[in-house]
Amino acid sequence: MTSTDASRGIAATEPVWWGWGPAVAHDPLPAATRRLLAYLGITGQPSPPVALDEVRLPPARLPEPARAALATVVGAGHVRSDRETRVRHCRGRSTTDLLRLRAGDAAAAPDAVVLPAGHDEVLAVLRVANQERIVIVPYGGGTSVVGGLAPSGRGDRPVIALDLSRLDRLGRVDRESGTAELDAGLRGPRAEELLAEEGLTLGHLPQSWEYASIGGFAATRSSGQASAGYGRFDDLVVGLRVATPAGSWELGRAPASAAGPDLRELILGSEGAFGVITQVVARVRPLPARRLYEGWSVPDFATGTRLLRALAVRDLRPTVCRLSDETETLAGLAGPPRQHDTARRGSRDAAASAAADLDRGPAAALDGAASGGGCRLVAGYEGAGPVVERRAAQVAVVLRAGGARRLEPAAGTDWELGRFRAPYLRDALLDLGIFAETLETAGFWSALPSLYADVRRALTDSLTAAGLSPVVMCHLSHLYENGASLYFTVVCAQGTDPIGSWRAAKTAAGDAIMAAGGTITHHHAVGTDHRPWLGAEIGGLGVEVLRAVKRTLDPAGILNPGVLVE
Ligand SMILES: Cc1cc2nc3c(=O)[nH]c(=O)nc-3n(C[C@H](O)[C@H](O)[C@H](O)COP(=O)(O)OP(=O)(O)OC[C@H]3O[C@@H](n4cnc5c(N)ncnc54)[C@H](O)[C@@H]3O)c2cc1C
Repeated sequence: MTSTDASRGIAATEPVWWGWGPAVAHDPLPAATRRLLAYLGITGQPSPPVALDEVRLPPARLPEPARAALATVVGAGHVRSDRETRVRHCRGRSTTDLLRLRAGDAAAAPDAVVLPAGHDEVLAVLRVANQERIVIVPYGGGTSVVGGLAPSGRGDRPVIALDLSRLDRLGRVDRESGTAELDAGLRGPRAEELLAEEGLTLGHLPQSWEYASIGGFAATRSSGQASAGYGRFDDLVVGLRVATPAGSWELGRAPASAAGPDLRELILGSEGAFGVITQVVARVRPLPARRLYEGWSVPDFATGTRLLRALAVRDLRPTVCRLSDETETLAGLAGPPRQHDTARRGSRDAAASAAADLDRGPAAALDGAASGGGCRLVAGYEGAGPVVERRAAQVAVVLRAGGARRLEPAAGTDWELGRFRAPYLRDALLDLGIFAETLETAGFWSALPSLYADVRRALTDSLTAAGLSPVVMCHLSHLYENGASLYFTVVCAQGTDPIGSWRAAKTAAGDAIMAAGGTITHHHAVGTDHRPWLGAEIGGLGVEVLRAVKRTLDPAGILNPGVLVE
């Protein structure tokens, strides 16, 4: 796999089994970030991952008749139980997943990995699994951060990870309608590469884009960094082909329909619990002729939030729009790794302010607004040249009127170049024994200020009570007319029980989200991690409806049991 351009990720090969990206992409933590962490008292003991042959792996339990039946369907070489393949398909890529893997715990590894080549083979695998009482975990890019690949209801049944990476073709491109058929196993870069050959793009760029797949985007209702312009992934889906234990299902005959409820919505976000998505028909756009990324400084997070609402209600949303709070602004200025380090040339004024904050001590350092450091806003525009220029000018009028100040051009382009770096930074932090994890929510504009304050407080209080001195930062993104998403990042010492401490903090945050009127997930999905709050969000009746759908499509309960619903 090669990337089409430098700003679109650096994944050139398979990732390391214990983290993110190829080994060659793992740089040590930048000195400035180390200094900031030391200054904040966030330290840890070096914690390299164990060697692959030290990983504790339960014996593979796939019965021989089942293996033979599966080999008949996909070919013997595509039924794998070797150590590396099983470890690579163990869990997803949340920080707790990585902590377990790095410590050599692969107890949740599948018994085998099966790689079908197309829709019919997927159907045939499901038939074998039904007969042989085997649990199937649909596996796209393996980037779930909510326990979506570690079903909790397997009981004593063998588990197969159904790796969809051989479903990797671009099908029919309907230029007149602006749609393209994309196989579910295509990963983000390859899908864009194939579409670019046709002069087209999906415009779906989540931070996990380098490894996540088309089917995974649909199964989790993913939302990319450019969602304000191109839409969420579920906005992009017009049709779906699904293999279920009850048979094949094709959905989406027209852009819109009044033929009953829109059943595509039952599959979007179904997280492999109802069926295996084998193909998506997606809306595609012409490749943008012009990309413009700008950095702005706004007086503070509350003002910035009001400004973004003003843009959203006037239908003036940039393609990418991301407002960092004071803490995230400061942490960004203090030295995140750059894909092509440009020494923050566009950020000198803000960096000077950040340095002044550091000189004032930890409290001021984490509340940059106190010194007038302000908050960083990234606004990106993509499209035809004149459209981009006009939209950027209209947005600038609103931002300036609200007290925002445009930064040097590199403040925007630096963000664009470094947009996929965070997971590499997390690996570097874990190597040093430092914990870093994220969580997200969304709410209506009227609820956002208290949602922000309450979740921040819940995370801070919980981790402080565990003695871990957390830094909790946040950005607002994914603008809608009626609200937006909040994305929190937590960095702290690992302490003696990082998984337990994070579970407690995440529970406190989940409860705070529900109490403040937010959604338990804006784009990471439910998995097993968010299931405790699903009933509070959609009601007991809603959960029953989902269970009824599952009973119809998957009567024997072989698909991802315990993910999304029990
Ligand atoms: C560092 C990092 C950054 C991230 N950033 C973002 C972000 O910006 N935006 C965002 O939305 N998410 C983000 N995520 C979360 C994750 O990448 C998304 O949920 C993504 O859509 C998952 O795609 P995947 O192909 O990796 O799916 P997987 O992780 O393989 O699977 C996710 C779930 O979907 C099911 N599934 C997968 N493929 C299929 C299929 N074809 N049919 C049916 N079910 C299937 C799986 O069984 C599982 O339950 C991030 C994750 C990481 C680790």
